[in-house]
Amino acid sequence: MHEFKYINNHLYCEKVRVEEVVKKYGTPLYLYSYHTLIDHYMKLKEAFKAIEPLICFSVKANSNLALLKALVDKGAGLDIVSGGELFRALCVGCPTEKIVYASVGKTSVEIEEAIEKKILFFNVESIPELENINRIAQRKKRLVNVAIRINPDVEPKTHKFITTGKLTNKFGIDFKTTEKIFTQARNYSHIRLNGLHIHIGSQITESEPFVAAIAKVVKFIEKLRKDNIHLEYLNIGGGLGIIYDKETPQTAQEFAEKVLPLLKKTQLKIIIEPGRFIVGNAGILVMKVLYIKKTPLKKFVIVDAGMNDLIRPALYGAYHNIVPLILKKKGLGEREKVDVVGPICESGDFFAKDRMLPKVEAGDYLAIMGAGAYGFSMASNYNSRCRPQEVLIVKDRTFVIRKRESYDDLINNERIPAFLLGI
Ligand code: PLP
Repeated sequence: MHEFKYINNHLYCEKVRVEEVVKKYGTPLYLYSYHTLIDHYMKLKEAFKAIEPLICFSVKANSNLALLKALVDKGAGLDIVSGGELFRALCVGCPTEKIVYASVGKTSVEIEEAIEKKILFFNVESIPELENINRIAQRKKRLVNVAIRINPDVEPKTHKFITTGKLTNKFGIDFKTTEKIFTQARNYSHIRLNGLHIHIGSQITESEPFVAAIAKVVKFIEKLRKDNIHLEYLNIGGGLGIIYDKETPQTAQEFAEKVLPLLKKTQLKIIIEPGRFIVGNAGILVMKVLYIKKTPLKKFVIVDAGMNDLIRPALYGAYHNIVPLILKKKGLGEREKVDVVGPICESGDFFAKDRMLPKVEAGDYLAIMGAGAYGFSMASNYNSRCRPQEVLIVKDRTFVIRKRESYDDLINNERIPAFLLGI
């Protein structure tokens, strides 16, 4: 469910005609619906109300400050993976006891900063990392909460690049090693080992892999308990899939019904780290058709957005619906098979291949749906392209939440050494 709908053949975001935003701010442009964002967060909160988990929005999915602030204001915590994401979390006033920190490669500086800010806990992914956190905590004379990220070795049935809970992936620690860590907890004098974490992958549309992974962890928690090892937190990660095309993902309610019995059994405080589920369908990428190019074999719709703006199709072959901003009366129902491609010098720079789309002409506008998660946050300046503007709609109000980058932004941090300038 989302608030991007046609009214009299014109695409609207909440109460605003998307063409009006485009006329004012140009393309390519990310457009977000505030109410869709909040609605998805509230759906999850409502579904899990029996156990009142801490819902930590996964900042990597979309790190725009306005969206983070909107969620934090509703009570969300944040799941971070870098010093930069910690900085963003602090910028929007996220209470630090609502911040959890994952990543297989936290640097010592990043660990120090997070300890100083008193985050809720680190999700630790290896023994060397655990030792490093202990060393830093000791130096800072602090006792630090740690949840061990378990790699439960389950198949999440998603794209291999976003599978994270198999033993062949770089993430987490196997059960046997984790047990050893807990039984040797005294080696880590400045760490309070009081949680477990799992995150098995992203865009998972069925509940079964989650249930399988959580069931394994619950069994493990019971074993630890028998050995007199008592935990405080269980972080079940994110990964809930959304509708991009014809998927029928579990709803928040269905997901909760499946996993709540297991979670209640643990009697632990539960953390959830959704990203895509909250923001994926709250955003679209709007672009302009520059040219229609016919070749002997193909028809290409060349648009002004590229893989630098939205890399998911190029990276994972991900499918996104593409729709026109205006359903033309004369063109209604008239469709043709096209590739929708960007201007970048890579054959991977496409948004659709051999797709039946309503006929469009140069100058028309198209929207890529479901672009709110891993869209702007994965955008780059490849081909020296300025990253797009981001705009937030709240009912009939329009807010620029990130200015389009300028050419100056592109070169701001670059320096030409004096010898090249002949100085
Ligand atoms: N938690 C962790 C540790 C992650 O690595 C990710 C995404 O990769 C997430 C949460 C969010 O995943 P999703 O956006 O699929 O909910």
